[in-house]
Formats: sequence, structure tokens, C-alpha cells
Amino acid sequence: MARHFDPFRQAPSGWIFHCDADAFYAACHMAEDATVRQRPLAVAGDPKNRHGIIVTANYVARRLGIRTGMNVGAARELCPQLVVIEPDKSLYRRYSQGLHNIFSQYTHQIEPLSLDEAWLDMSGVMTLKDDPVPVAKGLQTQVGAAVGISVSVGISVNKMLAKQVSDWNKPEGITVLRYNEIADRLWPRPVFELFGCGPATAEKMARLGIETIGDLAHQRVGNITHHFGQHGLALRLRAAGDDYTPVIIPRPEDRRSVSAEHTTAYDIVRGEDVLRLIGQCAGEVSDHLESLGLVGYKLAIKWRTRDFATHTRQTASYGALQSRDGIFRLASRLWRESGEKRPIMLAGVSVSRLGPPSQQLHFWNEGIDPSLGP
Ligand SMILES: [Mg+2]
Repeated sequence: MARHFDPFRQAPSGWIFHCDADAFYAACHMAEDATVRQRPLAVAGDPKNRHGIIVTANYVARRLGIRTGMNVGAARELCPQLVVIEPDKSLYRRYSQGLHNIFSQYTHQIEPLSLDEAWLDMSGVMTLKDDPVPVAKGLQTQVGAAVGISVSVGISVNKMLAKQVSDWNKPEGITVLRYNEIADRLWPRPVFELFGCGPATAEKMARLGIETIGDLAHQRVGNITHHFGQHGLALRLRAAGDDYTPVIIPRPEDRRSVSAEHTTAYDIVRGEDVLRLIGQCAGEVSDHLESLGLVGYKLAIKWRTRDFATHTRQTASYGALQSRDGIFRLASRLWRESGEKRPIMLAGVSVSRLGPPSQQLHFWNEGIDPSLGP
């Protein structure tokens, strides 16, 4: 199935849902810890550092003026009682899995867009004549009860329109945009709201007199490709509501590797601290492999020294790698063998040559065990 625009493809016969969790990272921490639920809360890359950047904030904090992209110092000045938490990727992956489990009870045609966003093709479940709102309400209620977070749902006739409108009524919103409502409800909105339209593109469009999504939808295709190339063409089609890209189910076996890495605020000098960082990466890679149901047979470590040079070492593994301990054992062996003594500022672990766990059998069947040799 092609990802690009296909003018010969029929529009879908059923609704496309775009489900997007509200303030996802913050919501995961609130679901985990009842004591922070009512308090203003932000997730920041480096909470102890004044210059750390806020990645997301809950709605209590947003009402007090806290915004994504603010630094921790400015946010604390604005809101001294702000709870600032460090990101916890494995926590987010766990909640993401919970979300996905609920989505898959509604349809098997699911395309994840990020940890907390996915498109659901409901055409196998209902037609465009059916009211999608009660179904979306049911999904929201189920996510709330089982996962403990809230989602907003954008509903339309294609992926891009659904994605476009899921933002309109956050949090806990449900927004339906029918094809014949595009002119009244989508076109008056500013062009920078269009998915994929960055600030630089929006600025250049403004200079050409293109202020709204409707302005863009009415541009001649030749004019747009002249100024903005293929990307402009994609935006122009999106503005007109023309998008027939199918919901594509990702196949886990298409994935080539799973990795995790961490940069540190200070140089790490002591070997045991490097191993602790490698252990953290190993745990994250292990969690991720487990959630994908995959094992790997090749492992690499990487580290960066103070001169910004990146170094790597890799090795094959005879046994299937998935557990934290297995990954950590091999990664720390590679680290010791590297003989690196200089301070480092980044460490990472990656596992590749992925496959389903049963592949382990092939290794033995193929006579890797020397005692079974000819
Ligand atoms: Mg979200």
C-alpha cells in the first residue's frame, strides 16, 4: 500500500477517528500518583536545571500560564507551587500500550502516529450514515476507566481531516467534521493550524497573501508547487480536504532496531556511573522489545567523549536478547572491552537483527552448538 496521495483511490466508506491523549506525559504521572492529580504539574527534560525545557504541562498548570517550551526557571517564577517531573519513557510506553489495547477493541485497522496518538479506520465497523459520537464517547469512557487518562477524538472522512479536528475541543473533546462542512468550519482557520505547516512556511504563505486554510485550498496547484515544492502540494491537498492515504497497520517485523540513549548534564567520569547509565538504557530497550514482542541477536553500545566524538562497539549474540539482564550483561562487557577511560557525556544501547522469539530455535537447529557438529 502506498503512503503517497493516490487520486484513484476511493474515499473511505466509514469514519476515521484520530485519537489523541490529552497532555499525555503529565496525565501518566497524574494517573500514577494521586497526590499530584489536583496540582499544577509539568514534565521537563532537566527539572533541577533552571534552563531545562518544559515538554508538557497538565491543564491546571496551563490555566496558570505554563506553556510547552518555557524553561523551568520562568515557569517556577510564574507558578512557585509547580511540580516539575523528569520524563519517564518506560512509564509512557506502558500507558501507550494500555491505550492501544483499548483502541484494538474497536477496530484492527490502527495506525499509531506517536505514543499517544493513533488513527482508527472505522469503515469495517460503521458507515458514514452512522452517528460516530456515541462510539467515540464509549471509547473515551473505556480509556478513562482502564488506563486512567483522557483522550480527545477527531472524526472525519479521512486521516488528515480527523487529525486536524482532534485539537479543536481539548481536553476530552469529540469533534466531527463532515465533508460538506469543510468550507464553513475548516477554511476560516489560520493556515498555520494545518498539520505539517511549520512557522517558516506559514510566514512565507502570509507574504503571498495566504492567511487561512481556505486561501490555501483555493490556490492553483502550479503556483503552490512553484513556491513550496512537493511539501506545498501536500499542504494544498490537505487544505482542500483531499487525502486518501489509507490507515496503515505497522508490522513489528519491519523494525530494524530498538535503541535508547541518554545525554548527561555533566561529564561522567566514574566507571560505575557509566554502567548505571548503560543499565538504564538496557532497561528501556528491554521494555520496548517486550512491548513489540521481539527479540534481537545483535547489540551495539555507543558513547560520546568530551570532544563530541561518538564511538561505537557491537557484537553478535548467540542467545536471544530481550531481558534487561541479558542486554546489560553484553553491553557492559562491550564497555569494559572498549577500555575507554575519558569522561563521557552520552551513552546508548541498541539491539538489532530483530525477530520473533521462536527464531532462537533456528539457531540451535542450524548447529551453532559445537557438540552437534558433523
Ligand atoms: Mg496528545
